Formats: sequence, structure tokens, C-alpha cells
Amino acid sequence: MVTHLFPLKKELERLREYKAGKPIEEVKRELGLETIIKLASNENPFGCSPKVQEALQEAFIQLAKYPETTAPELSLRLSQKWGLTPEHFVIGNGSDEIIRLMAKCFIQQGDEAIMADGTFPRYETCVYMEGGKPVKIPLIQGVHDLEAMQNAINSKTRMVFICNPNNPTGTIVSKQRLQTFIEHVPKNVLLVIDEAYYEYMDDEVKLDTHRFVEKYPNLVVLRTFSKIYGLASLRIGYGIMNPQIRSILLKVKDPFNSNRFAQKAALCALEDWQFVESCKQKNQEGLTFLQNEFDRMGISYFSSHANFLMILLHESGTSVAEKLVRDGIIVRAGEVLGFPNTIRVTIGTESENHRFMDAFKQIMKGANEDEN
Ligand SMILES: *Cc1c(COP(=O)(O)O)cnc(C)c1O
Repeated sequence: MVTHLFPLKKELERLREYKAGKPIEEVKRELGLETIIKLASNENPFGCSPKVQEALQEAFIQLAKYPETTAPELSLRLSQKWGLTPEHFVIGNGSDEIIRLMAKCFIQQGDEAIMADGTFPRYETCVYMEGGKPVKIPLIQGVHDLEAMQNAINSKTRMVFICNPNNPTGTIVSKQRLQTFIEHVPKNVLLVIDEAYYEYMDDEVKLDTHRFVEKYPNLVVLRTFSKIYGLASLRIGYGIMNPQIRSILLKVKDPFNSNRFAQKAALCALEDWQFVESCKQKNQEGLTFLQNEFDRMGISYFSSHANFLMILLHESGTSVAEKLVRDGIIVRAGEVLGFPNTIRVTIGTESENHRFMDAFKQIMKGANEDEN
């Protein structure tokens, strides 16, 4: 056994291989279905800006050359967008990478990191990898309990993670509460606010968290090109932070972490604000459609500010998800996310949303007939 030769690092004992939402290719192979829609991983159903393709042609010519290590052009563009300096940005191989870098830099054996019980699983994984201890605070109706999280901070606490909107519930914390929280987290505790779905939020409910990084040097804001910008497969996201935190992260970052295509594509995607606006608009319409239908059926869900919806069922989410797959629709079963009896559905195109809803209604009808 290989495990005899290589005894497992203690930090890895609790970890499991990441189980992603099933890729379309896999379901096609397994079920022999032709038209499959994937509403499982919160990807953008409208793809990405057509302008990105032109930019990739240009990067293609340079295929043999390493990319720039800190993506200076992109950092500069982002600094103009958010009114900061390029030294406030770390560009990552997805924002996932920045989560890992932070845990690597700030978590030592026995340190604690506070996070919601029912949030993005990478926080916990990255903390475990460094020998730290995740302290999980229950959500209230799917929403972060900021007060309890504040109260959980002690002398062992090194990091706090807030996912806003929260994946997988889609809920947000109020602007005022978030601001108060930022003001009250001790300066020696790194506060990470993960805003992967920032662009989907309405302006009225959105706190301009990036404006706080100058005054609060312990604050890191995470954003990504994987969601509304539709570049999930290129792997590019960023952190906004105090330049001193940045220089620490740059010590451990892989030199060529974000590739040439990703950097170019992100730069281009930022220019096409009409694309982003239209995705946001269509997402809102899809969300409203689904919520109205669920309301009519008397089915509950968490109120979402993102591009997905968590639906609360009276039966196993896994079993509903399996029935949906047979109809060629991939959603995420809540069980794997720590929410039994739920499914998480990404908002699709209009036709995808209708197809999902038709299939879902059929399944629910079947379930009711079984009971009677
Ligand atoms: C999708 C997502 C990310 C983004 O991951 P990338 O590595 O940038 O693709 C980060 N945080 C949350 C909560 C997400 O849902």
C-alpha cells in the first residue's frame, strides 16, 4: 500500500476529494441523453463577452511565453475601476487560490478561523490544510449570524470568513451590519469577505467593501471573473487588500499562477459592461420567475441575491436531484453542501429555467401521488 510508504500528513486526515457538480459530458456518457442543461455550479448560462474571444487570439501568438507574474495590466485596470492602487490587488488562479494563499500565510497549527456553518467549503478545507481549526457558526434562516461570529472571536482566532452573498444559500447580510462588523473585528484578525456574486447584487443592498481596505488593513475582499463575467474555465479572480497583506501573499504565490489567456480575457471582460448589465438583468428575471412559481406551489426557498436559489424540500435533495438528472437537468443536491432536503439550482437562460420548472413540477406531482 502506497499509504505505508507515504504516511498521510496529519493535516490531511479530515480532507476529502472535492466533489464538483457533475459535468455535462459525464451525464451525457452515463445516461446517453442528448440535451443536457447544467444548473449545478453557478456558471454564467450566457457565456462570456464576445469581446473576450478577440483578445484570446492575441494571447495565442504568445503561447510559448510565460505570463507576467502579478498581472500588472489587469491590476492597473482594476485599481482604476475601484479607486485604489495596483498594489491593492492580488490576481489569483481563481479566487479559490487567494483563499488558499491566505490560509497558508496566516494559519498555523491550532489557530482558529471563524466561518458560517453552511458556506463555501474551501474555507474549511484550506484552514484544515494548514493545521488550523474551523469554528463554524450556525446560519439563521440561511443568513450569517454576524453577532455570534463576533462573539466567537478569541485570542486563537486568526481569520474570519464572510461569504456575501452566501454560497449555497444566496442570502446577504445587511449593509449596516456588515459595516459594523468590519469596524469591530480586531485588527489582528484577518477578515475575508468573499463576494464572488457581488455583481449580481442590487446597488441598494451592496456595501462598497473595497472602500474599507485602506482604513481596515486586516480586510480582504474577494471577487472573481468566474461568475457574472463567465470565465470560470480560465481560472481568474482577485483579492483587494492592504499592500502589506499583498506582499505577504506574494511570497507564497506560484510565480505564474494566472495565465496569459486569463489575464487578457479578464481585462477585456471588464470593458464590456453592457454584457454584465444584461446578465444581471436576465438573472433577475429568471430568479423572479422561479420564485413566483415556487410561491404558487407553496415551496420554500432562501431569498437569493445571487445567480442561484436554494430550495427547501420535504424529501432528500439527493433523490430529487437524481430524478432531475434523468430528465437531463443537473442541479446540486444540498446533502453534499451540508443542507439535507434541499437542492441548489443555478439560474439559467429563460428556456433552461422553464425546462427545469416543468421537470421539477412533474417530480413533485409524482411525490404527492406516492403519498396519497
Ligand atoms: C464560485 C465561488 C468562488 C469563485 O471561485 P473561483 O476560484 O474564482 O472560480 C469563490 N467563492 C464563492 C463563494 C464562490 O461561490
